[in-house]
Amino acid sequence: MIIILKKDSQKESVNRLVKILENKGISANFIEGASQSIIGLVGDTSVIDMDNLFAQDCVEEVRRVQEPYKKANRKFHPDDTVIKVRDTVMGNGSLQIIAGPCSVESEEQIITTAIACKEAGATMLRGGAFKPRTSPYSFQGLEGEGIKLLLKARQETGLPIVTEIMSIADLDLFADVDVIQVGARNMQNFKLLKALGECDKPVLLKRGLANTLEELLMSAEYIMAGGNMNVALCERGIRTFETMTRNTLDISAVPLLKQKSHLPVCVDPSHATGIVSLIEPMSLAAVVSGADALEIEVHNDPKSALSDGGQQLTPAKFAEVMTKVKDLAKYMGRTLGK
Ligand code: PEP
Ligand code: MN
Repeated sequence: MIIILKKDSQKESVNRLVKILENKGISANFIEGASQSIIGLVGDTSVIDMDNLFAQDCVEEVRRVQEPYKKANRKFHPDDTVIKVRDTVMGNGSLQIIAGPCSVESEEQIITTAIACKEAGATMLRGGAFKPRTSPYSFQGLEGEGIKLLLKARQETGLPIVTEIMSIADLDLFADVDVIQVGARNMQNFKLLKALGECDKPVLLKRGLANTLEELLMSAEYIMAGGNMNVALCERGIRTFETMTRNTLDISAVPLLKQKSHLPVCVDPSHATGIVSLIEPMSLAAVVSGADALEIEVHNDPKSALSDGGQQLTPAKFAEVMTKVKDLAKYMGRTLGK
């Protein structure tokens, strides 16, 4: 990191700045130029509060030469992170297919859907027990009961389960869950991220509706800073001026995240587009772009779904999509699942 000093900086202000930096264990190298002086910083600059720097009278500009995320950064961890999920793995070059309903609604619904998803080639089962809904009057999920039903579906199919957490207070209910999902709306719930950093469960961290990739990586950094390295990132579309799709799928995020970070990357074409007919082309695009996993919403009867009915695939349509996905994966030399 380089700090560019204001032209007529007072010596006391510069000394104060150097002291602040040294107190954080950073060595400050003052370089006096003919017209402009700078300070080059050496050490772990991730501990620096940028706002605090700009609050100093002598600071004109600050330039980062390295990314603020360290643990999630491929520069310091060149090998891909491979996350173990029960007896399968994510991030080893294989393609994981996480499929299932938006919400867990009943035993019959989740078991029927799970069996159909498995038959079509899904490798993990998703289903929301705690639902983050825009309206407080919409279905909020079966909560603890929903998790119990997911565990039953896992027993029935052998598929590992992925489900969303909304509050630290519910963490105990997730003890037997295989992958804890952090939804878009909680991507910057830092207390929740810290709590997940203290457990060793795989976390599927979804990109916030209006968050940059650097912010997504910094949220992953929160979990990893606590000691939990089992983090997978998920691109699920972002808010743009476009209204024809629910969100805009940022497909370039996939190769870019994989260049910047060693963490596995998942794509959720369901929430990204909100349109059934776009799930197949966007799934194929995600695989081509290098995604490690797809997360697709499938419901045994979308017309009666209690949430996201318009974007969920019928088991028959999912099977059709999977035929194409399997062909493409085969062509690319990628195995489904392990
Ligand atoms: C979900 O996957 O059920 C969900 C609510 O997605 P998102 O957080 O991406 O909106
Ligand atoms: Mn949904």
